[in-house]
Amino acid sequence: MAKKCSFCDEIESSQRRILSNEHDDAFICEYCVEGAYSLIFGEEKNLKEVNQKEDNYFKDLTPKELKAYLDRYVIGQERAKKVFSVGVYNHYKRLFKTHLSEDDTELFKSNILLIGPTGSGKTLLAQTLAKFLDVPIAICDATSLTEAGYVGEDVENILTRLLQAADGDVERAQKGIVFIDEIDKIARMSENRSITRDVSGEGVQQALLKIIEGSLVNIPPKGGRKHPNQDFIQIDTSNILFVCGGAFDGIETILKRKLGDNVVGFFDDKKEKNKNLMEKIEPDDLVHFGLIPELIGRLHIITSLNELDEEDMIRILTEPKNAIIKQYQKLFAIDGVRLKFEDDAIRAIAHLALERKTGARGLRSIIEEMMTDLMFELPEYKNYDIIITKGVVCDNEKALLIKKTDNKGKE
Ligand code: ADP
Repeated sequence: MAKKCSFCDEIESSQRRILSNEHDDAFICEYCVEGAYSLIFGEEKNLKEVNQKEDNYFKDLTPKELKAYLDRYVIGQERAKKVFSVGVYNHYKRLFKTHLSEDDTELFKSNILLIGPTGSGKTLLAQTLAKFLDVPIAICDATSLTEAGYVGEDVENILTRLLQAADGDVERAQKGIVFIDEIDKIARMSENRSITRDVSGEGVQQALLKIIEGSLVNIPPKGGRKHPNQDFIQIDTSNILFVCGGAFDGIETILKRKLGDNVVGFFDDKKEKNKNLMEKIEPDDLVHFGLIPELIGRLHIITSLNELDEEDMIRILTEPKNAIIKQYQKLFAIDGVRLKFEDDAIRAIAHLALERKTGARGLRSIIEEMMTDLMFELPEYKNYDIIITKGVVCDNEKALLIKKTDNKGKE
């Protein structure tokens, strides 16, 4: 007989693991364990709460702890999580632990380049660690940046955003993280615009280079264009961690051409083969995308994320601490409604997301589209269980409604 949680009466399923005592007569599901934990210890702790003293909270941090935290939110991408954790660890070690070393060897600033298809978790990696470390993060898109004086955003505006994320605290902003997405696109645009002035290509890269390598930058506190007679705030970027992301479409072909097929190894599995190939990326390969070598040279740590497959999508839907399905279940539970997804409905959602080719980003929009009508009528479904079947996902069928008392009666 399936186990049933003694607290919430839910039955064990692939989305709800249940623990039992040694006599197998008391049960608790993972959600109730989590609920109990936050009841006793308060909401989720981040490092700042654990180690209240400023600067102290990086003290005992290890790359393994960083990776373990990432594991709770980011599915798959094992290599990238490892490399990213080490990169972030070294960055903050440089900031907070250099005084522990005897000599005065200067440690270089290492910025990170994440290569991977859209929706594979690049931004998520940066966001998750920023949250864990309790440092401000600014996320921006390289394609919206233009050289000063042209339509678009000045590169310095990135820092204004970081300062805003730090609630105006310059000290905090100077230890923050900047994530610049679509870094591979700024060069391409300049290639296409060879006749007009290069407002978004090399000029932007030079401006980015300046802030990435570490310099004192005057920024207008409220963003927008710089103009005379305006007060500026000075930001030192030498301790800001820059993480760049890009899909670098076609990089596999460049690598294959460089390495030849036989160097890649004998992997039957296409995913393994690709992973192995992507680990061979070197800075030189990125010059093909029109990035200036100086900028690439500043992104010392390069790692790649692979395209997510159906199994990854299923895990993303159900496993992370803030998985979309868990979020909806919580939202429905507030209205006294239990929401369940059948396993093949989850698989169908994953499949649809793959077809949209927007990576895991597609999952949320698929579920949102599906849920709108249900949410509209939600208060009327109090005391019902709502079951999402494959038909709901694929054929626009109505969700199954089961009155809770009926449910109990059957058992
Ligand atoms: P990108 O690689 O384009 O930066 P994002 O990190 O912004 O993609 O991913 C978009 C959304 O998709 C995230 O907010 C997250 O909900 C989900 N997602 C993407 N990749 C993963 C992953 N590996 N694990 C868990 N969720 C993911």
